[in-house]
Parts: sequence; C-alpha cells; structure tokens
Amino acid sequence: MTELAGNIQTVREKVRKAAMRAGTNPHDICLVAVSKTVGPDEIGHACQLGIADFGENRVQDLLRKQSEYPQVRWHMIGHLQTNKVKDIIGRACLIHSLDRWELAEYIERRAEKQRFVVPTLLQVNISGEESKGGVRPHEVPDFLAAISQFKYLRIQGLMTMAPEVDDPEETRPVFKELRKIFDTTKKQNYPQVEMRYLSMGMTQDYEVAIEEGANMVRVGRALFGPRW
Ligand SMILES: *Cc1c(COP(=O)(O)O)cnc(C)c1O
Repeated sequence: MTELAGNIQTVREKVRKAAMRAGTNPHDICLVAVSKTVGPDEIGHACQLGIADFGENRVQDLLRKQSEYPQVRWHMIGHLQTNKVKDIIGRACLIHSLDRWELAEYIERRAEKQRFVVPTLLQVNISGEESKGGVRPHEVPDFLAAISQFKYLRIQGLMTMAPEVDDPEETRPVFKELRKIFDTTKKQNYPQVEMRYLSMGMTQDYEVAIEEGANMVRVGRALFGPRW
C-alpha cells in the first residue's frame, strides 16, 4: 500500500468514528482533499483511490488541476480576489470563501453575465482573529437577508477556519458556535439560502469539527503529508 493510500484509509476511518460519535451517518460527511501542496501525479493517485472532492486555495492552481482532472469536484477554499471571480465561475463546484459583501456583489454581477448559478458558503470569522477572513457572527443575519436580492449567487451553508492551536480541543467552542449559527439560520428560511453544508475542520481538528456537526471537512496534510 502506498503512503497516500494508507493516509486516506486512516483519515476515512477517523471520519467514520467521529461521525458515529456525533450520531451522523458517515456517508453524509464530505471529505474535501486539500491538494494545494501536491501536483498532478498525487492527485491522479488520489482519484484512483476514490477521492472525488479536491480543494485548492488559489484560482490559478484550481483551474490548472481541474483541466487535468475534470471528472472530480473542485472546491475553491482560499481567499478570492475580485479580479479572479470571472475565472472561477462555472469551474468550482463550491466556493467556500465568500468572506465579504463586495465579493458577493462581484460574484452576482459576473454570474449574471455568464449565466451560471454559483454555489457558495458564507465564511464566518468566529474567533475574531484579524488574520482570518469572514463576516463576524453578528453580521450573518443581515448578510443573508441581503443575499436574497441576488439571482445567481446561492448560499449553501457556512464555513469557518479555527485558530491554529496545539490542542484540537481548544477549537471546539469555535465549531460549536458556528453550528449554532447554522441551526438558527436554517430556521429563518432566507430566500436563495440553503443551509446544507457546514464546512469546518482541517488536519488539526477535523474529528472535533465532525463531533460538533461539520458535514464537510477540508483535509490537506493528513492525506498528502506535511508541507516542505
Ligand atoms: C490549507 C487549507 C486547509 C487544509 O489544511 P491542512 O492543515 O493541510 O489540513 C483547509 N482549509 C483551508 C482554507 C486551507 O487553506
């Protein structure tokens, strides 16, 4: 067995166990393999091993890798500059990083031109760290209410990035809070907003995230190895 095959097996097993602890069907958890540090060979190998969702944090990389592997789903997970919006529309299956109002307006304008519906997740900055993007929790209701005016941009859930910590337990309150916002928002039934995906958890904390209700995790290092 290759190292990648072993890693995939380990991560899947941990996902399964965390889902069981959360009382969730493991099949309802989407594992997004974050391939930003690896090239086409590793991606091809991961495809063969059954990985069907890949995440990239730069538009150029996503487009290049997607043209080589169009048969899998490509998720845009990193900060998105407005001048790159036109390139990503119709290419990413989901943009996880809708992190500011200006970007929502840009996406809507471009999507209308290109006649594409654009599924996104609203990125929420729970911890308040300045280095992290996203709207603050108290801004979420107004943001979602205002999204209703758009025809092409669709919100399909929420995303957050927890602070980097030594003990994954420290991230639990962050995930708990996003889950709470997810549940409240769901009840509000905003037009154009569907609370379907809760994207939280990376290598350091995906098990905790799943325990707290994540149904989409973005895992890089645990699959592809540490960055050099
Ligand atoms: C790189 C990245 C990940 C994956 O991080 P790992 O620690 O390698 O699992 C997840 N989400 C985002 C937004 C990233 O940029």
